[in-house]
Amino acid sequence: MHTLPLDTYGRMDVAALETAINEYIASKHPIISIVSIFGTTEEGNVDPLTEMIELRDEKYRPMNVDFALHADCAWGGYFAALLWDNLDDPEGTPLPPLPLSDYVIEQFQNLKHTDTITVDPHKTG
Ligand SMILES: *Cc1c(COP(=O)(O)O)cnc(C)c1O
Repeated sequence: MHTLPLDTYGRMDVAALETAINEYIASKHPIISIVSIFGTTEEGNVDPLTEMIELRDEKYRPMNVDFALHADCAWGGYFAALLWDNLDDPEGTPLPPLPLSDYVIEQFQNLKHTDTITVDPHKTG
């Protein structure tokens, strides 16, 4: 297991992730899975899934380097159920309206591009 530093917002530092992936490629170690947190228990921080997916799809897959992308939505996943009806409608508004930032809504929209998620109904909802 390889831990990564956080950025100033307490989210995964994607530049550090990229450096780590490059080191694993250079040393010919497999990358089984990369885990993002979708709503940390303590702070509610959401890792930059959009950037992580772009990195996987646009940089590494064309190099034949692939890994499973997991989103730990134990705490934050329940809110996707509240947003699901119009999540892909650019004119839509969250139902019921929730005070989520544009950043977090964008990460919810990209949740479908992960390979696996964890949802924990005993946390929220
Ligand atoms: C609670 C939590 C877990 C662990 O889930 P349990 O079902 O309580 O064991 C994992 N990840 C996050 C982000 C959590 O909030």
